[in-house]
Amino acid sequence: MVAPLLQTRDLSMHFGGVKAVNNVDFTLAEGELRCLIGPNGAGKSTFFKMLTGQLEPSHGQVLFRGQDISRSYAHEIARLGIGIKTQVPSVFDGLSVRENIWLAASRLNSAERAKRLVDEMLERVGLSHAADRVVGQLAHGQRQWVELGLVLSTDPELILLDEPAAGMTHEEVLKTAELVREINRTKALIVVEHDMQFIRMIAKQVTVFNRGSILIEDSVENIMRNPLVRDIYLGKQAA
Ligand code: ADP
Ligand code: MG
Repeated sequence: MVAPLLQTRDLSMHFGGVKAVNNVDFTLAEGELRCLIGPNGAGKSTFFKMLTGQLEPSHGQVLFRGQDISRSYAHEIARLGIGIKTQVPSVFDGLSVRENIWLAASRLNSAERAKRLVDEMLERVGLSHAADRVVGQLAHGQRQWVELGLVLSTDPELILLDEPAAGMTHEEVLKTAELVREINRTKALIVVEHDMQFIRMIAKQVTVFNRGSILIEDSVENIMRNPLVRDIYLGKQAA
């Protein structure tokens, strides 16, 4: 039997008394695109941080292609092939788009390969025309695409996107959805997003987090008409 691309077992992160993530069993198949939704504070970002080695789990395991990476360092996990775009910007505002992507690409690749990757990424995220512009002067949406370019340029197998459409205009959201679908032709992704329109554009299977646990996993259609999901988004407590 082929191991899933990613699996968590009983994964938990407790901050003092706060159970940010609690006993999460999650499975992602090779090539899958999964959306992760849930109200603020549900534990989505914390879950991501345990998958990338930014946080060491309080207990439980993260398996990447069957290999236990729960106690691995972030740089080791990056090398194994998990890339993340966090909610916090990780671009250098004073550098150009090309320089930013170059820095990321050359970290894990030879100079020759990095050079090729930079052009490929610029093309892929639609910023070839803006390659020499300073990132600090770009529109919000374009900055987000630079960050996506940074993640892609490390050539990961699995990409985690934490709220990639936040603060975007409708046009930018459409383009980001298209980009995510295009990326999914070759990579697996887990996407955290609040924008339900965006979710509808990209999602197949959706996992709903609430209070550190998985509330439900189902198709996007079923999730959208589930009254429990509507309730937690309206701020009511799930049973
Ligand atoms: P989400 O991304 O779903 O909005 P988070 O993972 O950011 O949720 O947060 C989940 C819970 O864990 C929240 O109650 C938050 O306050 C808490 N939390 C997150 N990070 C820390 C931390 N470093 N120290 C203490 N509590 C934290
Ligand atoms: Mg978050």
